[in-house]
Amino acid sequence: MFEGREIMTISYDITWDLDPAAPTFRGRTSVRFKGTRAYAELSAVSLREALLNGWHVPWDGARLALDVDGVLEVDADFAYHRDRGFRRVEVDGATYLYALHYPDSAGWTFPCVDQTTRSRVNLTVDAPGVVLTNSTAAPIPPYTITAAVGPWVEVGEGVHVMRSRAGERDRGRVVSRLIEDSVAFFESVLGVPYPYEKCDAVFVPEFPHLAFSSPGLIMFDDAVFDALATREPKYAATVLSHEVAHAWSGNLVNAEPWLVEALATYLSRLATEQFVPGVDPWAIPENTPWPDRPYVPHLAHVRAVEDTMGRETLLSGLSTFLSRYAHTNAGWAELKACLSE
Ligand SMILES: [Zn+2]
Repeated sequence: MFEGREIMTISYDITWDLDPAAPTFRGRTSVRFKGTRAYAELSAVSLREALLNGWHVPWDGARLALDVDGVLEVDADFAYHRDRGFRRVEVDGATYLYALHYPDSAGWTFPCVDQTTRSRVNLTVDAPGVVLTNSTAAPIPPYTITAAVGPWVEVGEGVHVMRSRAGERDRGRVVSRLIEDSVAFFESVLGVPYPYEKCDAVFVPEFPHLAFSSPGLIMFDDAVFDALATREPKYAATVLSHEVAHAWSGNLVNAEPWLVEALATYLSRLATEQFVPGVDPWAIPENTPWPDRPYVPHLAHVRAVEDTMGRETLLSGLSTFLSRYAHTNAGWAELKACLSE
């Protein structure tokens, strides 16, 4: 992914000015970085100004050419998109905005020197309505920065839904409780504190996935809010605890995608065992879409370790792995080393 020598980003300071009535939004970003990098990704509609250490930087519509390190300051206008970057969705006369990046698309909302290397990110969002962000003091991969803007209503502590759902407080409280219980359960079995200042949830319209867990803010598709009530209790326990488990597996320590999902699935099923007594979380319904079914083949690797070493040794090795590599990236090789200590 990198060109040239290793790049080290120090910080991103991002300000998004979001006006739901306008066709574009403005983003002002200051990136401090060290090392050689040929370009920063920037997929803006128009560029007002780009300066590197005070000098103008050429932009070809997708990339800003860089020749030295230092401070990159960019002021640009961005479009809303259906697939990546900021999305804009209208529901019942209200406009909701939220950002979803993939590891290759942070440049759709801010100039990105490197998408995945952890950096300090300071995010300011200037917008009407309720603004939810995942701002945290911890270093995070830049592509995980996100915000959700709109007339959100808090229906349970830290649980936000669209205005049209304002009356659904009973369900909101259930969601809030399950998230809180998941945090407490994982802290207890892993012996590693929840890594962020808060664990908010927001149910957004037309989310292209079931959920995405960014540091401190989990985005769920609004349809999940209904499924939590209409499907069996095991469904709610599985979906909510899985996303909370990503605070450790994926966010605190990032690894190969299969391992991130295998560990989140494993932890979530341990939680489900506790939360829904009498239900077997390891047996999932046949012929019914089940949220963590795609990860079952990968889960088998973790279960094999559990079969050989026992649950206690597995959790103790996982605890070492998460503590040792906190706020960095590691992988299966490092986890195996921790397990054999
Ligand atoms: Zn997952």
